[in-house]
Amino acid sequence: MKTHARVVVVGGGVVGCSVLYHLTKLGWSDVVLCERKELTAGSSWHAAGGFHALNSDPGVSRLQSYTIALYREIERVSGQDVGLHFTGGLNIAATPQRWALLRAEHARHRVLGLKTELVGPAEIRRMCPLMDTSGVLGAVHDPNEGHLDPAGATHAYAKAACLQGAEIYRHVRVLEISPSGRGTWRVVTDRGSIEAEHVVNAAGLWAREVGAMVGAQLPLVPMEHHYLLTEDLPQLKALAGEIPLVLDLDAEIYLRQERKGVLLGVYEKEATPWAAAGTPWDYGETELLPPQLDRLTDALEKGFQRFPSLHAAGIRRVVNGPFTFTPDGNPLVGPVPGVPNYWAACGVMAGFAQGGGVGLALAQWITQGEPESEILAMDVARFGEYATRAYTLARAREFYARRFQIAYPNEFWPAGRPAKTSAIHAQLRTSGAVFGVSYGSETPLYFARAGEPAAEQPSLARSNAFDAVREECLAARSTVGVLDISSFAKYEVSGPNAHEGLERVLAGRLPEVGQVRLTPMLSHSGRLMGDLTTLRLSEQRWWICGSGYLQRWHLRWFAEHLCGAGVGLRNISEEYGGVALFGPRARALLARVTREDVANAQLPFLQVRSLEVGLASAIVARLSVTGELGYEIYVPTAYLPALYETVLAAGVEFDARKVGLYALNSLRLEKSFGIWSREYSRDYTPGMAGLARFIDYGREGFIGRAAALRERDAPASRRLVTLAIDALDADASGYEPILLGDRMVGFVTSGGFGHCARTSIAMGYLDTAVSEQSDGLVVPILGEGRRARVLGAPLIDPKGERMRG
Ligand SMILES: Cc1cc2nc3c(=O)[nH]c(=O)nc-3n(C[C@H](O)[C@H](O)[C@H](O)COP(=O)(O)OP(=O)(O)OC[C@H]3O[C@@H](n4cnc5c(N)ncnc54)[C@H](O)[C@@H]3O)c2cc1C
Repeated sequence: MKTHARVVVVGGGVVGCSVLYHLTKLGWSDVVLCERKELTAGSSWHAAGGFHALNSDPGVSRLQSYTIALYREIERVSGQDVGLHFTGGLNIAATPQRWALLRAEHARHRVLGLKTELVGPAEIRRMCPLMDTSGVLGAVHDPNEGHLDPAGATHAYAKAACLQGAEIYRHVRVLEISPSGRGTWRVVTDRGSIEAEHVVNAAGLWAREVGAMVGAQLPLVPMEHHYLLTEDLPQLKALAGEIPLVLDLDAEIYLRQERKGVLLGVYEKEATPWAAAGTPWDYGETELLPPQLDRLTDALEKGFQRFPSLHAAGIRRVVNGPFTFTPDGNPLVGPVPGVPNYWAACGVMAGFAQGGGVGLALAQWITQGEPESEILAMDVARFGEYATRAYTLARAREFYARRFQIAYPNEFWPAGRPAKTSAIHAQLRTSGAVFGVSYGSETPLYFARAGEPAAEQPSLARSNAFDAVREECLAARSTVGVLDISSFAKYEVSGPNAHEGLERVLAGRLPEVGQVRLTPMLSHSGRLMGDLTTLRLSEQRWWICGSGYLQRWHLRWFAEHLCGAGVGLRNISEEYGGVALFGPRARALLARVTREDVANAQLPFLQVRSLEVGLASAIVARLSVTGELGYEIYVPTAYLPALYETVLAAGVEFDARKVGLYALNSLRLEKSFGIWSREYSRDYTPGMAGLARFIDYGREGFIGRAAALRERDAPASRRLVTLAIDALDADASGYEPILLGDRMVGFVTSGGFGHCARTSIAMGYLDTAVSEQSDGLVVPILGEGRRARVLGAPLIDPKGERMRG
């Protein structure tokens, strides 16, 4: 066994072996993997081996497609068969809502590069003669789905990695991981120690334990899962080919052929966590959990109805095995915040669909400094401290139980809530606020009107919130809107070297004292890393504000690139709460609650002041994402309830209205203002996103400058545009293709209804060659083509006079 290695991967399941393979593929051969028993000894050996590319998150879907395409490569490199069966897959719909959802998703598949098709019941029966299609409305067919041999695939990754220089140590358990004192890790095993530059936690069922070795609490928990294997079925014996993998989402079962019988898997409603307090070290390799067939009765009943020949089939084997779930079902990948050179590759629920993509992204991150595409949906930093063990358990249970249920875009599931609330939560609630949740915090979406239930109906089309949101938008553009912005992220950066540090991480011009600036942040490869707002409060004191759910993500980047001698960094997101005022009467309202002069000359657009507002000392910044005359007022959290009351009481005179985040979204779309994770992400460059004017190209030394300069000189192939859409009762929601005839010429990033402009709006990326095209564009909404036209200017106040006035 080596005593030094560049990387030690802990865990020889499919994920660890894929990470090892990708590290060698990217040229790092001094890498080793420790496996406490035999390879696959966690959940990998008893997986059902199914794979598919469909995922509600486009980034994850892309990595799943990559995983599937990779198997041929792995076979070639390793010389080992992985038992691939490309049977294709059918996602069937047996309710109108499900069918609407599948049609909407099918339109999006084109954007993701998936070649799926919609098929009707007759075609379904032709592909899968076992199925009784009564009640079935149709299905999405994906020819690129199938199944493989889980152990074969894991061993093929391992062999391919070893052929490229990696070493694998079987029956070597990692006992301890500690800093060596030389900037490396000391990985202590039961067969000696290895000094490593990087450690990857790919310990699957034991990832929590291997995380605890470095003090990291990883939000995942194993859940029990059943499938059963039948004896041979006469209908299948008679078939020359194989039936496709079938997901009957409404019955919550999946089925595929296994030899001449079938494998039937069940997501039962009563999700059962396993080893919630910690995974025993003596579990694994060959044992399974005792089957709990009584828990499956309902699902099996539905399965037998859909596949009647299973009634008479003998059951050859029942498998009950555990595998890990995170609060949102996506993996935990990337650098673990606060633990340098310790990487997560765990929480992978579908190792055979996702393992390749996880391995690629992580290996790129380790060897090249960043993954090549945005993977926030599986970044370990998407969860904050709110993701406690209790929260994780509640959310993972809920995710498992709802795994196949329709997840409506406007639906926020109830488990693990409320966890964090704003200081004015009670005030918001008594005003009829309907809450969503972001980064564990309850955030007001809109306010139900008198006599309406304070609950939004889950819906693919516009919901019952529509009229209330319209009134909020109209108020914001005609009088003044008041919004709780406590969930926004706020970081204080201070000290003698703060300016220098900020000049390194921020790509935009820094503000002078008393100024506010929009300052993009770039990755090393010149792609967007943040759309931050920077407030300069004094010579050496700055506030950086951004999206609340990115706190850990931002802080991880800052820890690596901003912090150092003479630079102080504090996350003050929870220390300070805030309200935003926006609309033509916002200044008059602010003037009523402060004794200080807030006239335009004293507090112009993009300026910040320390003012007394009500009884509190506040930081007041003049800006608004609504495009209106607006202010963000931040006070220490303890003062927020009083401030809110003061503002609302004074606001009566100005017809102020409480507004929520839905209104904010509508208002910003009317102004063509992008937001993070939609229009802006690591997938886009400043040129594409229309943010080049905020980049200070002339300043040397900021991260991503060289790449940004190259990009500036080579015109982008796509650029961000705003579209007006002839929609009926539903708006674009993201990742719909933009079509010109049969050709896909772009895709939507976000959409909604512009209540003041009375237009359905979408933003999206369009090929530059057709950017000026205003006729003939079509965007499918819920599967129905709708005419779209590119807007040359924002629908409201194109010159930006209101916000400056
Ligand atoms: C019944 C069932 C059906 C499934 N069906 C599918 C399916 O159809 N498709 C699909 O994609 N996925 C399926 N899965 C899920 C799939 O099995 C997992 O996603 C996958 O196995 C996760 O792999 P992993 O490498 O992350 O973890 P694991 O397989 O758990 O591997 C972790 C490894 O780390 C080792 N290890 C842990 N701690 C240490 C240590 N301290 N030192 C050394 N070694 C250590 C363990 O021994 C283990 O081998 C199924 C799971 C189950 C239970």
